Amino acid sequence: MSVGNVHQRTYVALVHHPVYDKNHKVVATSVTNLDIHDIARACRTYGLSGYYLVHPVGAQRELTRRIVAHWKTSEGMAQNEDRSAALRLVQVSASIEEVIREIQDSHRLPPIVVATSARPRPPMLQPHEVLTGVDASERPLLLLFGTGWGLVDEWIEKADSLLRPIWGPTDYNHLAVRTAVGIILDRLFGEPRYNCGEHRL
Ligand code: SAM
Repeated sequence: MSVGNVHQRTYVALVHHPVYDKNHKVVATSVTNLDIHDIARACRTYGLSGYYLVHPVGAQRELTRRIVAHWKTSEGMAQNEDRSAALRLVQVSASIEEVIREIQDSHRLPPIVVATSARPRPPMLQPHEVLTGVDASERPLLLLFGTGWGLVDEWIEKADSLLRPIWGPTDYNHLAVRTAVGIILDRLFGEPRYNCGEHRL
């Protein structure tokens, strides 16, 4: 597959546990409706294979399934087909390990796992370095995003790499996770850097 198709084997996981709280305690955060919808729409825009919401608590996974199920019904589709198309990408999982297993099962290759954070910790990769690495490997790509106060250090270290944090011209870079997903997906798969469809004006 050329680098122009990496998006078709790329997944986003929004991790609700293990993440830090403001006291650096490891917690599980609640799923929010906005994160389900907004990140699904970003994943649909960039042609990703799937968007996992990761939560260890069954009731939270069930809530997510119920929200998504509505948009898969004929009523939901009639209400808003665009929204329905995005939410069809949503899957729920109890853990990052389970997401990795599921992706490995469907691709018969383990995903390259790339963590994200506002906090720089070398070694870090630029988006284009991630792309060329994934392209050369033929493996799927799993992008981990945190909630709360971010992914635990264990997963930043366990991941195959950390994506260099997004920076603007200031020293403030604590973005909402929905914003971070949008920027990162565009840096990976947005025009004009990426092999985009010719039908664009
Ligand atoms: N409650 C917050 C919200 O609603 O977004 C959650 C914040 S959470 C810590 C932000 C997540 O977005 C981080 O774990 C990381 O995945 C991503 N993120 C935030 N700022 C970022 C940056 N400057 N560069 C890369 N990723 C960033």
